[in-house]
Amino acid sequence: MIEFRNISLTYPNGHRGLNHVNLKIDSGEFVVVVGLSGAGKSTLVRCINQLVKPTEGELLINGKNTLRYREHELKHLRKNIGMIFQNYNLVNRMSVLRNVLTGRLGYTGTIRSMFGLFSQKDRELAFNSLKRIGIAEKAYSRADELSGGQQQRVSIARALTQQANIILADEPVASLDPPTSHVVMRDLKRINQEDGITTIVNLHFIDMAMEYADRIVGMRNGEIVFDGSVDTVSETTFEEIYGRKIKDNDMRRGSVN
Ligand code: ADP
Repeated sequence: MIEFRNISLTYPNGHRGLNHVNLKIDSGEFVVVVGLSGAGKSTLVRCINQLVKPTEGELLINGKNTLRYREHELKHLRKNIGMIFQNYNLVNRMSVLRNVLTGRLGYTGTIRSMFGLFSQKDRELAFNSLKRIGIAEKAYSRADELSGGQQQRVSIARALTQQANIILADEPVASLDPPTSHVVMRDLKRINQEDGITTIVNLHFIDMAMEYADRIVGMRNGEIVFDGSVDTVSETTFEEIYGRKIKDNDMRRGSVN
């Protein structure tokens, strides 16, 4: 469904973010991308909705090379891709419900959405998404009144309301404490299983990657150095990915950097 064919990305300052990446992700997979800071995880994920654009290769989604897309095709592609950011990307002064409804922006005209004129159907969809994530009672709170974990869950509800068929989560738990991180990861995993949404998550932490991933992609210096299901991960896998011996406390959330 998503295929990187010999993808490279050189940033305008000459830095090589990705180097000849080949990767195929099937519909409905839950893939976790791991690697040190600067390995290229975020660049890899952001190529998929072209927040950054590869400078070489082909990026196929459902068989079509998206790097050749014109503006309207790109807009259509992005409508189907939900993005979860480390810092949640909510509008603080807006209500939770309005934030979730912004997931419908790709479907509603700009003028209508500027005035908050969402249809009853969109509102029901937004409420339903909040219910599924277990925070419907916060619908009318301001986004910035919520805890970090709750805000991240609002951003997941936004992706659900968007009816995305791909979710990209770029370090979704990096700002959260361990128990809250697990709540967010469980939500992402549950949605993947219930709705079959292809999900790609960048994670810094080995223990979390092992707990939630079906498949692990390891990156180092802009290259994929490991790609396999969690059952094929051995003791040396992470040493290869991180380029050094893994100490005990590396396995705990928050310690590898
Ligand atoms: P990760 O997500 O694994 O931490 P990134 O994909 O953010 O890694 O970054 C990969 C490399 O590309 C890093 O060396 C980073 O400094 C560099 N990089 C990222 N964004 C830019 C940019 N806009 N301009 C130049 N270099 C960048």
